[in-house]
Amino acid sequence: RVVMGTKVDQNHVNWVTAYNMLTGIRFVVSRTNAKMDRELTDADFEAKHKFSFDITGNELTPSAKYDFKFKDYAPWVFRHLRTIFGLDPADYLVSLTSKYILSELGSPGKSGSFFYFSRDYKYIIKTIHHAEHKFLRKILKEYYNHVRENPNTLLSQFYGLHRVKMPFGRKIHFVVMNNLFPPHRDVHQTYDLKGSTIGRDYKEEELENNPRATRKDLNWLRRNMHLEFGPTKKKDFIEQMQKDVKLLQKLKIMDYSLLIGIHDLERGNDENLRDKTLKVFQPGGEDADEPAPNMLMRTPSKLESARKAKELRHMIKTQKPVPMEQSSSKMPDELPDHKDSYFYSDDGGFRATHEDDAPGEEIYYLGIIDCLTHYSFIKRMEHFLKGLTNQESQISAIPPERYGDRFVKFISGNTKTREAAEREKAEEAEA
Ligand code: ATP
Ligand code: CA
Ligand code: CA
Repeated sequence: RVVMGTKVDQNHVNWVTAYNMLTGIRFVVSRTNAKMDRELTDADFEAKHKFSFDITGNELTPSAKYDFKFKDYAPWVFRHLRTIFGLDPADYLVSLTSKYILSELGSPGKSGSFFYFSRDYKYIIKTIHHAEHKFLRKILKEYYNHVRENPNTLLSQFYGLHRVKMPFGRKIHFVVMNNLFPPHRDVHQTYDLKGSTIGRDYKEEELENNPRATRKDLNWLRRNMHLEFGPTKKKDFIEQMQKDVKLLQKLKIMDYSLLIGIHDLERGNDENLRDKTLKVFQPGGEDADEPAPNMLMRTPSKLESARKAKELRHMIKTQKPVPMEQSSSKMPDELPDHKDSYFYSDDGGFRATHEDDAPGEEIYYLGIIDCLTHYSFIKRMEHFLKGLTNQESQISAIPPERYGDRFVKFISGNTKTREAAEREKAEEAEA
């Protein structure tokens, strides 16, 4: 997949779906945010609310451009999760609610999921399989507890779980989560690592034409790559990864990976490439007055943030279902600035360090992604494939315990400073 994606505008096949997703999110999030905060109850984890949108509107929902149904899951849990992850409620809504809003990432992969970036590139909407949806609901409480105990978790940060259905259409489940990659820094190399080597190779010939494609374990090993962390960061990173993987093992999750984006500070941003990107995204025709989306977005100034917050306050006030007296008086622009978690605190990522913990030459943007696949689901798929080919399957899934151990071993073994890696190489050559 290429990271930039295609703009989803009125002419895009998925325009209506994307539009409805965002309309729904805006409605349900402002509806929940407008209420006074409260402690979670057990029922919050099971909660689901259904809304019908149509062009005329009714007492519950405002009028929308299209007819569709929208379902919101565990809104209070996700509100709390967003707070733990340090999101500014105003930012969240504004990011997900501009006019044409999203870009779609490449073509759907094996799993058939679609990915959409918010226009400021901070958030990703991923459509998920019904089984993944059911599974996330099932594990939500354990995920929530884990995040509370580990606010610096490397696991995907889930901000919302929703479902959209168009008349005569099928039900589309989706999550909103963090985009690991920064809007303002070129990611020079991307790796998706699982700790397995079977089929984990992106064709080197194709990398020549497409150097920013997502590479895999074998490409990593071939280049003798490492996560270059000195003693302090190495310890912190591995400890957190171990805790996260422990949860995944307990929940019998498999097939996740460590996604790594590498920004080489010496190389910096390639302004030529960014110009090209600008052209790709440059809105033409009736959209010409819109600012260029995502990759090129600056961080909004204080003034802009204040204006956004004001817009948001207005938005919340005009949502029908929220009685005025329930509106929280603590408005988003009074909250402290967005507090990034530890692994995302060096310009949105985690900077390499040397043996003496002095800053290194790369910034890593990393996290554990695709963590909603339950073992039984893999097994079913394997069984299905075996039935088709009448052969032992090539993917040969290993149980979640072993998957996690192998993952941790691979990533830990590949975390070392440049100095250490060079020393080892020299020793090897000597021996
Ligand atoms: P499959 O099950 O076939 O592996 P999938 O549809 O479940 O695919 P993911 O593995 O979740 O998709 O992600 C596919 C790719 O999308 C990743 O390799 C990465 O390039 C990009 N991606 C996914 N999640 C994120 C994220 N949070 N931030 C940035 N990029 C992401
Ligand atoms: Ca994957
Ligand atoms: Ca998947």
